[in-house]
Amino acid sequence: MRILIAEDDDVLADGLSRSLRRSGYAVDRVAKGTDADASLSRENYDLAVLDIGLPGIDGIEVLNRLRKRSQTVPVLILTARDALEDRVKGLDLGADDYLVKPFAFPELEARIRALIRRGQSGMSSILSHGPLEVDTAGRRVTLLGRPLELPAREFNLLELLLLRSGRIVSKEQILQALCGWEKEITLNAVEVYVHRLRAKLEPAGIAIRTVRGLGYLLEKADES
Ligand code: CA
Repeated sequence: MRILIAEDDDVLADGLSRSLRRSGYAVDRVAKGTDADASLSRENYDLAVLDIGLPGIDGIEVLNRLRKRSQTVPVLILTARDALEDRVKGLDLGADDYLVKPFAFPELEARIRALIRRGQSGMSSILSHGPLEVDTAGRRVTLLGRPLELPAREFNLLELLLLRSGRIVSKEQILQALCGWEKEITLNAVEVYVHRLRAKLEPAGIAIRTVRGLGYLLEKADES
């Protein structure tokens, strides 16, 4: 899951991205409205957190342009306590939620999880696949009825493969889902993560197929 944070308050943006990365999200950070606009039109995000008071163009205008491009990425706006009018404008323009500063990080994370869940077209947060069950909100995996501990990147990879189960996921798509700008990983690293995840799932009969030159495909054992 990849999140864009547009926030010009360095301390807040630092804390926010650190806390979200710890929770396993890939996070990109920008401090200017114009950069937020450019990133959103160029990259695929699962969620954008937009501060309204941004230098360049403000968060409201970034949101306005985003929706004019018919991009449906969920947006959470951050506003100052006294800016009720901005909040109303933001929601009118298609923001999905807002949070008033100052806020507690756990509150923001809870909202983010809810929005990402909603963004996946009203899907429940539990994804099942044969003997495998993944709770995307609680970030817990159960395999053959037993809990399976996965490092953040392997969890994100599994989530991506499950969401597109039966379809091919390219290495580039995996790369995009796994990394933010600050900690780049390579296509070779993607192979390593797939290899590790595969080793954990195969004993339960769940196969991640390599489609040469195209990417990977999660298929059920009884279909292969
Ligand atoms: Ca600001």
